[in-house]
Formats: sequence, structure tokens, C-alpha cells
Amino acid sequence: MSAASDVFAPDYRQAPYWWDAVPRPQLEVKPLPQRADVVIVGSGVTGLNAARELARGGRHAVVLDAEDAGYGASTRNMGFVGSALKRSFGALIKRRGLEQAKAYYVEAREAFESVGQTVEAEKIDCHYRACGRIFLARSRRQFDDIVNEYALKRDHLGQRFEVLDRDALLNEFNGSEDFVGAVYIPDLGSFHPGKYHAGLLDRAMGSGAEVHAHTKVGAIGTPDRDGWLDIETSRGRIRARDVVVATNGYTGSDLNWLRPRLIPFHAFAMATEELSENQLDTLMPNRRTYLDSNFNTTAIQVAPDGRRILMSGLTGTEENTLEDKARKLRKQFVDVFPQLGDIQLGRFWTGWCSAPVDRLPKLSHHQGVYYATGYSFIGMPMGTYLGQKAAWQIMGLEKGRTIFSDRGFPNLAFLTNNTWFVPLAMNIYDLHDRWVNR
Ligand SMILES: Cc1cc2nc3c(=O)[nH]c(=O)nc-3n(C[C@H](O)[C@H](O)[C@H](O)COP(=O)(O)OP(=O)(O)OC[C@H]3O[C@@H](n4cnc5c(N)ncnc54)[C@H](O)[C@@H]3O)c2cc1C
Repeated sequence: MSAASDVFAPDYRQAPYWWDAVPRPQLEVKPLPQRADVVIVGSGVTGLNAARELARGGRHAVVLDAEDAGYGASTRNMGFVGSALKRSFGALIKRRGLEQAKAYYVEAREAFESVGQTVEAEKIDCHYRACGRIFLARSRRQFDDIVNEYALKRDHLGQRFEVLDRDALLNEFNGSEDFVGAVYIPDLGSFHPGKYHAGLLDRAMGSGAEVHAHTKVGAIGTPDRDGWLDIETSRGRIRARDVVVATNGYTGSDLNWLRPRLIPFHAFAMATEELSENQLDTLMPNRRTYLDSNFNTTAIQVAPDGRRILMSGLTGTEENTLEDKARKLRKQFVDVFPQLGDIQLGRFWTGWCSAPVDRLPKLSHHQGVYYATGYSFIGMPMGTYLGQKAAWQIMGLEKGRTIFSDRGFPNLAFLTNNTWFVPLAMNIYDLHDRWVNR
């Protein structure tokens, strides 16, 4: 798209900001093998973490992606690395009891830690920082809710946090007066997801995994008497002993066991034009990650290059064109930072995420196929963690155990196959957010 109007900066591009530093890699085209120990469908964070572990465990691991390597959400996200699930700790206690809720959140914390451990062990240069996160409240009711949630986490999980009233918040975040206070979590992280992905790709291939781009997987057969599966692809058939499906929000109808179990939703993100260090110091002096507490969340951080602000929001909603969507997201940005009323957009992009109906990530096994999926907006930790867990389960290792494999994965085709469902649900959640913040 050209710079058609004054809301688009002269260097505006409709592409992920992260792809500036790390464009999609052009992998050498090689013949597909006829057999592999494990075929992995999807070359995002999940698929590559599984592939590296399998290859290091001596398995012939073959990753197939319908598009370029890393085309999916793994290189399109906001780069937040957190330890919360989309179901709050308080809600999980009510629904499943304290012990189950703790078990889920202990593993969510392990997933968060797995990112830092992977970055360090693999020596991946991706600007990983324990920058801390600010959870912003837009009303007294939201403020009380997040303080209660973190008090529960402190009491049962030992989570450290600080409460920031409006005055204390101003030292951290100088945005709209709508924000009445916040909770600060000191150790949560952020990184450059494009560089993280590039490091994972390099380490997976360096460990002996094969990665084939532009190879779309169609039907996956059922195991034969010896446990082998036939996998149809756009470049011919391949046989494997095990399959990992790591397609998340990009899952199509070919993957017919998984598709009706996932609710896919469209997410949107933007980078501003370049701003001065002075401006950024005034707005976000400590360069943390910032998340509001609406169900349909807005996420904000200063980009690792220290020159632009990144923001995501408007998840799951529909607009006639992406340009309309970009304008709407920019308007939401100005609502957050009214002092930047004439801001121009530098980048705007979209990506697909997915969630199971119970909003808990899954690592499920069905007829020889492992499905690691349904992370909503926590795919950097969960993809790292469940990708590794999938590999360890295939290798029969005790460390592959996870609570995210323990429960069923309901098929709700009636909801998940309907395009009206997500916009309707998001409208209801938006009404709920407005009611809470009135
Ligand atoms: C705008 C946005 C902001 C986000 N922010 C954050 C954040 O800050 N922190 C966080 O933790 N998470 C965030 N997320 C979520 C996170 O990015 C995803 O959960 C995560 O990337 C999923 O990784 P994955 O490897 O499982 O799948 P993906 O990275 O989505 O990869 C799936 C791959 O499967 C391939 N594929 C699909 N079907 C087939 C097929 N039939 N054959 C072969 N290949 C196929 C696709 O081409 C794609 O490359 C965000 C997502 C978006 C879109």
C-alpha cells in the first residue's frame, strides 16, 4: 500500500514490523524424504522447538510448512513473554478448585521460564529482557479485579507484584487519564520474535532437522498395523511413525480432527512512525510491556530498536478492508496516548491465533498425531514449552508429562465452523468491558 494519506508515514508498509530485521528466509528446495521418524506440520515456535529436541534425541524430524518458514503468528506477535493463561487464576479456582488451578499456573510459569532457558541455552540473540509488565486498569472495578487476581497468585503461587495507584502509574506510563491504576509484575519479559524464530530455525536445522517450506499437508492417515502414518502433501506422500501438528490459528479444514476443536481469531498490530527518545522517555520511561485489563486486550511496548511504539488490539473484529482496520487501530492508539494525536502509522499487520472452547492450551494425542495448540496470546511461552513437551512425549521421556495433556479437547463444530461466532463473541466481550469500565 502506498502512503495514501496523512495517517500513513512515508515509509508505511503493511507487513510485520519484525520482518524489517528478519525477512522470511528463502530455504533451499530439497526433495522430500519418503519416510521420517516424525513429521511436524508448521514451522513456528512450536514446530521448531519440537524439531530441535527430536533431532537432538536422534530422531529424523521433518518440518513441513505450507508457506515460508515462520510465516504464521510466531513472527507476527507482540514479543511479550508472560506467565498468565487466558483463564484467570481466580476463575480457574472457581471452576476447577485450588489444586487444579495451581497445577495449571505452576506449568504456565514453567512455560514462561522455558523461553529464557531456551534463549540462553541456544545462545539466541533476540533482545530478551526481563523488563517487567504493567497491567493497566481502566476503572476502579478493573483495578480491584486485577489486584485481587494478583493477591491470589501471591498467596498460592508466590508471585511478586506491586500495586500502582494513579500517581505511581504516572512514573511508569504517561497515557490517557482513563487509566486509574495498575499492577506491576517485575520479572516478565519481552523479545524480538522474528530473531527468536530465526535462532530456533538455525538451531533446529543445525541439529539435523529438515525444514521444507511451501509444502502443504493435506490428509493425515490413521496408523497402520506397525504404527506408521501416511501424510499427503502438496509435494507428494511421506510416511512417519509420529506426527506433530503445530498449525495453531493457521489450521485449515484439511486437518479435520483439529479444525472443529479450535476457534481461530484474527489479531492486528501496528508500529508507529519513528519517535524521539525524549518522547518515549516521557511516555514509557522504563520500557516495560503494558497490557490493559479488558477481555479484548490492548498490548503496548517500545520496539527493541527504541524508536517506535508497537501496539496490538481489536482482536477478532471485522472491517471492510485492512486499511480501515489500520485506521481504527491508530484511533485506538490515540485514545491511549491522546498527546500523540497526529501520530502516523509506520507498519500495520495481521496474524491468526486460536483458542479451544475452554481457553486452555492443549497438547493432545489422537491416532498417532500430537496436537500442540490453542494458546491465544501466550504462544511464545506455550509454543516453546509444548513444542518441547511433544518431542519428549514422542521419545517416551518422563519430562514430557504436562497437565495440558490431561483433559479432553472437545469438538464444537457448531461454534468453531461459523464465521459469525468470533465477531459476535468479541462484541459481547466489548460490551462487557464497557460495562465494567463505565
Ligand atoms: C498480533 C498478534 C500478537 C500476539 N502477541 C503475542 C505476544 O505478545 N506473546 C505471545 O506469547 N503470543 C502472542 N501471540 C500469539 C502467538 O504468536 C501464537 O500463539 C504463536 O505464534 C503460535 O505459534 P505456533 O508455532 O504454534 O503457530 P504459528 O506460528 O501460527 O505457525 C503455524 C504454521 O503452520 C503452517 N501451516 C498451517 N497449515 C498448514 C498445513 N496444512 N501444512 C503445512 N503448514 C501449515 C502455517 O503456514 C504457519 O507457518 C500473538 C499473535 C498475534 C497474531
